[in-house]
Amino acid sequence: MTGVFAIETHGLSKHFGRHTAVDDLTIGVPAGTIAGFVGPNGAGKTTTIRLLLGLVRPNAGSATILGHPLTKPQRYLPRVGALTEAPAFYPGLSGRTNLEVLARLGGYPGSRVSEVLEVVELSDRARDRVGTYSLGMKQRLGVAMALLPDPELLILDEPANGLDPLGIIGIRELLRRLAAQGKTILLSSHMLGELEQVTDWLIMLNQGKALFCGPARELLAQRVEVVVEAEDAVHLDLVARIVGEAGYAVTLEDHALRIACPAGFAETLNRQAREAGVPALTIRVKEASLEQLFLALVKGDRT
Ligand code: ATP
Repeated sequence: MTGVFAIETHGLSKHFGRHTAVDDLTIGVPAGTIAGFVGPNGAGKTTTIRLLLGLVRPNAGSATILGHPLTKPQRYLPRVGALTEAPAFYPGLSGRTNLEVLARLGGYPGSRVSEVLEVVELSDRARDRVGTYSLGMKQRLGVAMALLPDPELLILDEPANGLDPLGIIGIRELLRRLAAQGKTILLSSHMLGELEQVTDWLIMLNQGKALFCGPARELLAQRVEVVVEAEDAVHLDLVARIVGEAGYAVTLEDHALRIACPAGFAETLNRQAREAGVPALTIRVKEASLEQLFLALVKGDRT
């Protein structure tokens, strides 16, 4: 990897006692991308983020953030904005006053407050007490807080957690606006359908290890969803067994089998099914969703 990466890690590891939370992790996030950071609960996403922010120290490995080593956080942290958990605000103070307090503490110019309120579209409600804000507004205020230093890199841990569809759309549009300004965004989320819409880069983590790190479209192209229909349930059973032996994930839905596999497998399946005595099958090949890819990778079936 080269200098065009806003984040690079090499063999990064973090143990808590005997438990390995981050395991020999080598990943990169190209500058200027929105990178999705996904993985099941306990995969090590938050720990990785905490390592990148210098909040915990690695047991092994190294990392470079905005061109500076992890060991010199003072060089890169002023250019990094982060939202790592539900942000704490003074509920009795207005959104604007909360940000003004933080700007003063952080030494940022007071003019930034109006700018970030504008970016997160909270200017209209800026004088209202935070206690009266909806969850979505609080999350947007949290992003505004992370934007105060006008960071080049924004790290957001689950920014859309608990939001209703409108709030989610609000965060999605906000991320797109920020990316359009050239910022790099690392975004952890369990909302795979949502990530699919905003990310151009993906990092998939499982048990502290990277299952995938690369362009989202590359991952999505790796797999398709093959839908198989047959007149007879017995035939579907036979097909499911062939798929299982080949090592791909298969589910039965509405009398059809859905299989996440590489595109080429559809032809193999058709041939093997015929050889096994299954008469004409209806086989359709569709693009797989990120969720299907994720499940297939985490379950460990072949790509
Ligand atoms: P989630 O999606 O549930 O937020 P995550 O991918 O962010 O999960 P982490 O919070 O990084 O996962 O946790 C990774 C593993 O490390 C888990 O098994 C967790 O219990 C463990 N862990 C994290 N922090 C600590 C800590 N301070 N002390 C002990 N174990 C920890």
